[in-house]
This record gives sequence, C-alpha cells and structure tokens, in this order.
Amino acid sequence: IEDNEAWVQSLRWNEQGLLPAIVQDAETKAVLMMAYMNRESLQLSLERGETVFWSRSRKELWHKGATSGNTQCIVELAVDCDRDTLLIQVNPNGPACHTGTYTCFDEENGTHSGQLKPSVVEQEEVAKQLKVQVQPVVADAVEEGNASVHVLDQLAQTIVERERERPEGAYTTYLFNQGLDKILKKIGEEAAEVIIAAKNNDAEELTSEVSDLMFHLLVLLQDRKVSFDTVLSELSRRHAKPRREDYNQLGKVKNKE
Ligand code: AMP
Ligand code: ZN
Ligand code: ZN
Ligand code: ZN
Repeated sequence: IEDNEAWVQSLRWNEQGLLPAIVQDAETKAVLMMAYMNRESLQLSLERGETVFWSRSRKELWHKGATSGNTQCIVELAVDCDRDTLLIQVNPNGPACHTGTYTCFDEENGTHSGQLKPSVVEQEEVAKQLKVQVQPVVADAVEEGNASVHVLDQLAQTIVERERERPEGAYTTYLFNQGLDKILKKIGEEAAEVIIAAKNNDAEELTSEVSDLMFHLLVLLQDRKVSFDTVLSELSRRHAKPRREDYNQLGKVKNKE
C-alpha cells in the first residue's frame, strides 16, 4: 500500500486534483464508462479492488455500485504515456450506466446524428496536423473498392448459409454433402498448389491458389462448427501488443529478463 501511495503521487493530476478514468470490460474490451478519480478514490480503488471515483456533481467519493449493486471488480489498471489518464479493466457486476445499459456508450443512449465517420482524406489531413500516422479504417478501404478482410467475413457468412440451405448445384453444397474427408483432401491439394505457385514465383497463380485454400479452410471451419469469428479473435489476441500478461497491477510493463 505504501508502494501504491508513491505511484498515485507520480501521476499527472490536473489542477482540480483529478484524472479521467476510462473503464473497460476486461473480457469483451468494450468501453463501459468514463469518470474521474482523485488521489483518495484511486487509493481506495487499489485497496478494495473495486472502482471508486470522485463525483464532480455530488462532490463526494463515489463507490461505483454502492446503491445499484453494479460494482466493478478491477482486473488491471494502466496509465497512459503522459500519465494523465487511467485505463481500468474490470469485471462488471451489472450495467455500468445508470440508465441500465451495459455501457454508457450504448446506442440507446444516443448517437451523434451529424457526420459520423471522417473520410480517409480528412483523417489523413488531421493526422498530418497531429504529425502522427493513422491506420486506414478497414471499412473505408472497402468503400474505396479495395479488398479487405471483410470479404472473408462475408464469405464465411455465405458458407454458413450454404451449409444450412444446401442449394442444388453449389460447389459448397457438394463439399458439405461429401463430408470431412473430401474437404480435408481439397485442403491438402490446395496447400500443395500454393507451394507450387510460390516456387514458380508467379504472383497471379499464388493469389489464386491462396484464395482457393482460404475458401476451403472456411468450409472446414464450418464443417467442424468452429466460427470464423473465433479464429479472428484468436488472431487479434495474438496481434495485440503489448500483451496483457506484460503488465503488472500498477500498469507498468514488467521487466523482461
Ligand atoms: P451506482 O454507483 O451504480 O450505485 O449509482 C449511483 C449513482 O451514480 C446513480 O444514481 C447515478 O447518478 C450515478 N451513476 C452511476 N453510474 C454512472 C455512470 N456510468 N455515469 C454517470 N453517473 C453514474
Ligand atoms: Zn503515447
Ligand atoms: Zn494522456
Ligand atoms: Zn452512463
């Protein structure tokens, strides 16, 4: 706890002695709410392992869920690069919002009706001004006519429908009717063709064969009742940097031996 005190003091508290705290669901990663903490409420949060904020309107310590029962169990606490914002990952014991929605940023609570998404050009303009780089938004790439990972999603969806409806004459129907061994045989063949295309140094052939292989992999997933979403989640879990395990309770990156 003495350790906590020093760490709490080291943060960049604003003139009112507050820090914004973003609360995120540790499991789903949804942003649940934003509230303010003062030193005392942060100290209490660390001691209890539950979120305690400072209510600016009521001017009092606010133990989230004290009246509603919707407390938030702290899983991880991180601080941002300039130490002026907290990110708190929690396991919520109920809706985060006093309106009863899971997250305060629920659509039921209203969305901005004006322009929702800046165009790629606007984003780049803003990014230039901020002198940072932005990742292009995937959805925008689609609108621009570029292929994106979304096409895989749509394909996976189509495959789910094909398996359910089995329309006559569809190749996918044929694969499902033939069954697992046939699908696995196709994957073996397509994988071999990918290897040959790569060795041939033929970009067009490789593109075509990788597409074939990916299609058959999606069919296999559906046949085995593993959703493509599960694979995407696994991939993004691996891709997420830095990893969750790299942080200790105080939000500092652990020393790597
Ligand atoms: P609770 O802390 O959940 O017991 O709620 C107590 C009071 O805090 C509510 O009546 C609201 O006034 C307020 N409150 C609760 N949750 C939020 C929230 N996510 N954002 C803003 N105010 C909240
Ligand atoms: Zn930074
Ligand atoms: Zn900051
Ligand atoms: Zn709310």
